[in-house]
Amino acid sequence: MTVQVDNIQTAVWIYDIDNFTIVWANKIGLHLWQCESVLELSQRDLKTEASDAVQQRVLEYREGFKKGQIFHETWQFSPNGIEIDTFCVFSGYELKDGRIAMMVEATPANHFSEITSANSKVVANFNAYGAFISGNPPFNKEFGKQIDCLKSLFCDKNDYQILFQRWQKETQIEIDVLLFSIKESGTKIETWFHLSLNKVINQNNEPSLLIGLYNIDRRKRIEQELTIQASTDELTGLLNRRGFLQQVEEYIQNQESFTLYYIDLDGFKHINDSLGHGYGDIVLNEVAHRLKCLPCVASEIGRFGGDEFLFILPQSDKQNAKQVAASIIHDLSLPYNRNESHPLLLSASVGFANYPHDAIQSEHLIACADAAMYHAKHTGKKRYVTYKAGMEVSLQREGLISRYLRNAIVNEEFCLYYQPIVCINTGSIVSFEALLRWENTVLGQVSPQDTIAVAEKTGLIQQVEEWVLNRAMQDLPLLRVASNKNVNIAVNISGLHMAQKDFLNTLKMLLQKHELNAADLAIELTENVLVEDIERHDSPCKKLVAFGIQLNIDDFGTGFSSLAYLDTIPASIVKVDRSFLQRSKQSTVTLEFMHTMFNKLKMNSLIEGVETEEQSQLMAKIGFVLQQGYFHGRPKPLSYYTD
Ligand code: C2E
Ligand code: CA
Ligand code: CA
Repeated sequence: MTVQVDNIQTAVWIYDIDNFTIVWANKIGLHLWQCESVLELSQRDLKTEASDAVQQRVLEYREGFKKGQIFHETWQFSPNGIEIDTFCVFSGYELKDGRIAMMVEATPANHFSEITSANSKVVANFNAYGAFISGNPPFNKEFGKQIDCLKSLFCDKNDYQILFQRWQKETQIEIDVLLFSIKESGTKIETWFHLSLNKVINQNNEPSLLIGLYNIDRRKRIEQELTIQASTDELTGLLNRRGFLQQVEEYIQNQESFTLYYIDLDGFKHINDSLGHGYGDIVLNEVAHRLKCLPCVASEIGRFGGDEFLFILPQSDKQNAKQVAASIIHDLSLPYNRNESHPLLLSASVGFANYPHDAIQSEHLIACADAAMYHAKHTGKKRYVTYKAGMEVSLQREGLISRYLRNAIVNEEFCLYYQPIVCINTGSIVSFEALLRWENTVLGQVSPQDTIAVAEKTGLIQQVEEWVLNRAMQDLPLLRVASNKNVNIAVNISGLHMAQKDFLNTLKMLLQKHELNAADLAIELTENVLVEDIERHDSPCKKLVAFGIQLNIDDFGTGFSSLAYLDTIPASIVKVDRSFLQRSKQSTVTLEFMHTMFNKLKMNSLIEGVETEEQSQLMAKIGFVLQQGYFHGRPKPLSYYTD
């Protein structure tokens, strides 16, 4: 028995509640308490170290133990004055004399919580109506000494009401809340805490609340920033596709009628090509500004990449919708520079559709407005078209892409471009990322995003990506000869493909065919795909990693935006999305935090989209030694490296 318990990597000890002593501990437990032997530990008087709130709490726990209850908590211990944060499980243990002692299983708070929480555990108890009874010293430090009730701590009294309702019915509650904490100067500041509430019966047979609080402010703030970032268009500050879709969903949930506009600039490509991308960006910002200034209540404006803008007009009737469409075209057609001899002119084609009249699902509604815009474009531009039933069916491009995609492989229309990933410490290439390119005689260049999106919808994704995997593995030996023999190859894989049953077997088969090892291949998956994966009991990703294939988290920061799941993903490289680099001009705090966090999680981090030497140096200073971007090399065909 002793041997087994000593093998456990969790500290375990038994606390005699009446005598304030520890009567037994395993090896790790002794280590945590900084003691040589159980005897030495059992002679320590813990009474003086425990505050009233803590003592009260333990006594209340004992009542729970008698009913077989177990409690989970984070708790701070201070053996020999050194503070240690731990996650604890408290349960009852019957001593030889029949009294109930407390068995504690404590895991020192891991690297993750160390960096996401600034403070140690704060505990306090309140009566069943929320009146303050007592708190431990960290509680007083955090919230001051003048507390009379739990409600006063809450920034949003609605949050308190909800919690109040819940504890009438539930005995254990875990939530994240925004509370007022007190700075040394006496000012109140809004701070995020993780709150755990246990309803217990005290010695006087009265119900009371044990509240444990853990400061998670830093983590929450970063998460909020990530959420905003994930829904914002970095160039214009408008909503991006994801953010805009969320807004449309919200409107639909509220069942409000609204008009959705799809706006496409006429002649923008020409400006971009002839005057340069920098100028193009200025124009796009000006368009965003003009849309914001329209004399109607535009609640939400989004940009879907390129020169496509979307716009919601709440509660509009048909007549009003047309007037707004006309004023969009008018305003966007005014000259874009003040040079009167060469005024820069653009116009816009506008399509619009109405919810719920034309469609009741967000994607469908957008497709309707898009189809109407398409008609406006193809019937003369600089005009608006109201959506009519059936228009979207003929929406060309997606239909055409799916038609030609079927034959793209047979016709050998695909090829791969390779972009180097470099380690700036050694100055050498460590990997190549394979990026799909498709040139079709009718469609011209089709972007990989469009190709993949259509392949996913039409069930061709497995076929397309197996082609990519096969070609990438075939080319790897040649890339190695051209650069260095240790590089591996990174391939992007869609979540739909990865979830297929035979995915790993196909990878194994392909590796064998090309006489490669598992470590020669890296699979890139986005956060959303990974979060779904780790929630599955058979987690294909874990199997992949167990087999030795490298896993990269792609476009980090554009997806799920919760940091709490990160340490459960077995990834070796986190690729931070290039939008963070774009914003590093204003501040590098987020990047610094992310880098520290990945380090602690023992994940390598990579920064994407490095375009200039200056950016490369700045990122290196923060610690991003792995870099990818145009500065280090644009994606190029195999021949570029081998010829
Ligand atoms: P990604 O995985 O984030 O790939 C990097 C993209 O960023 C590439 O775009 C690359 O050309 C671009 N890029 C690299 N460095 C820079 C830079 O310094 N500045 C800027 N502005 N861009 C840079 P690309 O080739 O258009 O690919 C777009 C996306 O399409 C990829 O994003 C990837 O998610 C997806 N994709 C490409 N091939 C495949 C594939 O075979 N399967 C899947 N599922 N997705 C693929
Ligand atoms: Ca990628
Ligand atoms: Ca990426």
